Order: sequence, then structure tokens, then C-alpha cells
Amino acid sequence: SDETLVDMLDAAVAAHGKRPALDFFGAVTTYRDLGEQVDRAAEALRRLGVGAGDRVALVLPNCPQHIVAFYAVQRLGAIVVEHNPRYTAPELRHLFEVHGARVAIVWDAVADAIADLPADVRPAQIVAVRMPDALPWHLRVGLRLPLPSARRSRAAMTAAPTAAGVLDWARLVRARRISRRVPRPVADDVAVLQFTSGTTGRPKAAVLTHRNLRANAAQSAAWVPDLVPGREVFYGILPLFHAYGLTLCVTTAVSLGARIVLFPLFDVPMTLTALRRTQPTFLPAVPPIYDALARAAGRARVNLSGIRHAISGAMALPAATVRRWEEATGGILVEGYGMTESSPIAIGNPMGPQRRAGTVGIPFPSTDIRVVDPDDPARDRAVGEPGELLLRGPQVFRGYWNQPEETAQALTPDGWLRTGDIVTADADGFVAIVDRIKELIITGGFNVSPSEVEQVLLMHPDVADAAVVGVPRADGGESVVAAVVVREGREFDAAAIRAAAREGLAAYKVPRTVVRFDTLPRSLIGKVLRREVREEIVRRQA
Ligand code: ATP
Ligand code: MG
Repeated sequence: SDETLVDMLDAAVAAHGKRPALDFFGAVTTYRDLGEQVDRAAEALRRLGVGAGDRVALVLPNCPQHIVAFYAVQRLGAIVVEHNPRYTAPELRHLFEVHGARVAIVWDAVADAIADLPADVRPAQIVAVRMPDALPWHLRVGLRLPLPSARRSRAAMTAAPTAAGVLDWARLVRARRISRRVPRPVADDVAVLQFTSGTTGRPKAAVLTHRNLRANAAQSAAWVPDLVPGREVFYGILPLFHAYGLTLCVTTAVSLGARIVLFPLFDVPMTLTALRRTQPTFLPAVPPIYDALARAAGRARVNLSGIRHAISGAMALPAATVRRWEEATGGILVEGYGMTESSPIAIGNPMGPQRRAGTVGIPFPSTDIRVVDPDDPARDRAVGEPGELLLRGPQVFRGYWNQPEETAQALTPDGWLRTGDIVTADADGFVAIVDRIKELIITGGFNVSPSEVEQVLLMHPDVADAAVVGVPRADGGESVVAAVVVREGREFDAAAIRAAAREGLAAYKVPRTVVRFDTLPRSLIGKVLRREVREEIVRRQA
């Protein structure tokens, strides 16, 4: 299909104009209003000089303005660059160096940090979005926002917060609507630069086109059975700056004319409050969110039974989480697999009895996979034998922004994406994730899979959480080291944990050292950052 993201929004406005599109703490925007706000914002951005191919940085939590800004930039054929809104100034500086956006639309908490960027990276225009004063106080604290003072007048609040030269979003978008004559993007135009999570190194900017993102929205919608256009309620808890949230909670939702209930961060009481008001029919999230919600809803006697479908990705989905969630909802929770470079979803479990626990499912429609020798991708592995996963399909990206060498490493000449993940595929095509190639531990010739060791450690009754990493040794090899979080009320006994690991693992896989962590470092989407675990262990050993 040659449809663009803008065409998809127009179609939703035409078919579902009166229905709710966005819901932010009960403030509802209909599809017609969304279309109109996008047209006004597009005109305002055009007047700021934004045109086809220009990068516009969004540094925003999940909020209605995020989605309006996203589509306004698309309408101009310009490129959205998404950012984690909680990044600090040095992290943002690096990303702005990479993409060189001329215009940035940012929330109030970071407006000053962006305005203070060095002159050569500072965007020419900065537009600040003010979070509503009505946000609950504990959320303002969680989001590191200034607390509104009762004594300040409303007028003072609107005038006060930002540095000189920073424009106010609300004022800007009062402009008129964009003219029909302003050219629109085409399917092969770049729509988004989406940064990878930065789990294994510095985030890389994946170049995604309208065709990529439209394809993945259509594939994702086809994955979930019995969706009814105009009737679905999607919960947008996943951050929209990440490929997973953007595709499931925005583009897929819009393609179905769904109501998108937006949450600026994940917070259990806030979600329970929302659940008493609106029942989601579809909830894309990650295992820690499903766990927390299923437990809390049981205690608070909140009914989750309307949530027919839920999908988990980005990290392994524990069987206990599936059980807990499905008991609480009566719905189904399945695991899928994807990466930023594939817009992001490529593989998913069927949402029905054919699903297979412990696997991420089968390739999406129009998606081909291969499992190959990582040292020679021309050689395919036998069925069941571990190898690197390759992907090909309409959702696979064009490359990394301004990084021809990394792009050449990630994309083969015939269009296969090298995922860097070791997987197995069974005779029916179900794929199981083993580990990332970069995280395999090389101990004197043998490769140790950190997740295999973690699974054994997690069976120990004292262990609440575990991360296994390779720590460099003087002889050039690596030692297997485990970081464990001890269950509440239990003692930390490294020798006992190692002894138990010896029961379940070959000698070379048993951690040489077990160290205690209070919590494991995780990315905002919830992945364990093994890289940071390793750095912390090296620091402690020094
Ligand atoms: P970076 O590329 O910057 O190091 P990242 O790979 O974590 O970060 P993402 O694109 O967000 O950035 O994540 C994709 C990766 O997430 C996959 O390559 C895979 O390793 C992991 N992943 C995705 N889904 C699953 C899953 N269901 N189970 C286990 N791992 C998964
Ligand atoms: Mg990656």
C-alpha cells in the first residue's frame, strides 16, 4: 500500500470523526478535533520554516500534544525524531548532535536544558508544551516537574516558566489551518528517526519510512483477533518515544479509530483510577507492568475483565506473569518480538490456543526469517539449532541516520536485517530467543548464555532478580559473574546460590562470583541493562 501516516489519520477522521481519539485524565479529543489540531499545528510549524525532510525533535511524555505534534510534522513531509523525555542534558546533547533538528517541541521540564545546548547543536526554534496543572502531585514529582504554587496566578504561570526565545505551544497552535495546497509526503519518505534503546551501546537513530510504519500498523492490527474499528480502547502506557509504544499505541490505534487513553508515565494508582473509568480492550505493555497491574487490581478489586488482548515484548515474558494476568482478566497475554529497526514488531504468538509458551511466536505476515551462522550469514542453521536471526519484510528500516558503516553491518545487500539476537526456530516456525550476541560471555572458548544462567538462579528461593554478565579477566577471557537481588526477608548467601547453580549448570557456566545488588538497573521500558551491571561490578572490584 502507498498510504502514508497522514492518509491513515485522514481516513480515521473521515470514518470516526465524532468518536474519541485521545483521552488524557478524562479530557477527550475526538478524531475530528485531532485532525483539526494537526492542521493548525502543521501550519504553525510551516511558518516556523519546517518543510519536507527537516527534522523536528519531540521531547515529550505521553500527552495529547505529543500525538498532535507527531502528525503535524508528518503532514509537512518532515521527520519526527523521538526522544526519551527523561534524558538528562548530556544525553539529549548527544542525540541532538546526531540528528541536527532545527525545531524542537519539548515539555516544560526540559525546555531550559534544550535552550542551554551549545550554539552549534541548539535548535533554531524551541516550542515548549506545558503539562496541565491538573496532573496529580505525585506524578509531577515522578516527572520532575515544578509543583504549581497555589499563590501564583494563572496568568503568571503561563508567562513564567521558560527561557527567552522559547515559544509557547498553546499560543502557537492558535494559527489557521494548513492550506490543502501544501504538498503531502509519499510512502517512501522518511517519517521518523527512532532511537534504539541503548541497551548495548549508544542509541542509534533508525530511519523509518511511512511505508515501514504503515506496514507494521497493519500487521499489528491483523495480529489481534476480532478488533472492531471505532470501538476499541487502547491504553497508551508504553512510552511513545519508543518504537513499541509509537506503533501499537498510536499508528495501530489510529488505523482502527480507537480511543487512546494516554499515561505520561506508568503509575499503579493512576492506572487503577483510569481503569475504574474506562475499560481498555487492548493493552500493549511489558512484563513488569502486567505483574504490577494484576497484583494491584486484585487488591483494589478493580475489574480487568474487559481486557481481551495483551501483548508483551522487549524482554522475556515469565510464565508466572502470564498466569497472573490471565487469571485477573480472563483475557489472553502473548509474547512477541521486535526491534526498533523493524518498526518494531516482526514475530508474534497467535492469540489463541496455538500460542506456545516460551517462544515469541511465528513471523508476521509478509515477514521472512532465517536463522544463520553469525560468522557467515550465508549459511543457514538446521531446524532447532541456535543461530543469528535475520529478518526481511516491509517493516524493516532503511538504515541508521548518517551511519553508513553501522548500516552496512545491520543490512545485508539483499535486504536482510541482522538482529544480533541468537534464536532457535522449531519445525513449525516458532522462534525462541536465546540471547543477544553482544551479551554472550566468552569463557576460555565456551560461550555462556547469560539468560540461561539467570533462569537457573531465579529458581533459587532467595533470589528475586538476577543479571549475569561477563567480567574481563587479566588473561583476556571473561568470568561469569551474577548480580542478584535478594528476596525480602531472606539472607544473602553467595556460596549457597553458587552451590544451587552447580546442580543445574555445567561447571563452566556457574558464576565465579555472586554479588548483591539492591535493584538491577533497567531502561525506561524495563529492560535490564547488563552493560551497567557489568560496569558496576568492575567498579566494585577495583
Ligand atoms: P540497542 O540496539 O541500542 O543496544 P535495544 O536493542 O535494546 O538497544 P530495542 O530496539 O528497543 O533496542 O530492542 C530490541 C531488542 O530487544 C531485540 O534485539 C532483542 O534483543 C530484545 N527483545 C525484543 N523482544 C524480546 C522478547 N520478547 N524477548 C527477549 N528479548 C526481546
Ligand atoms: Mg538493538
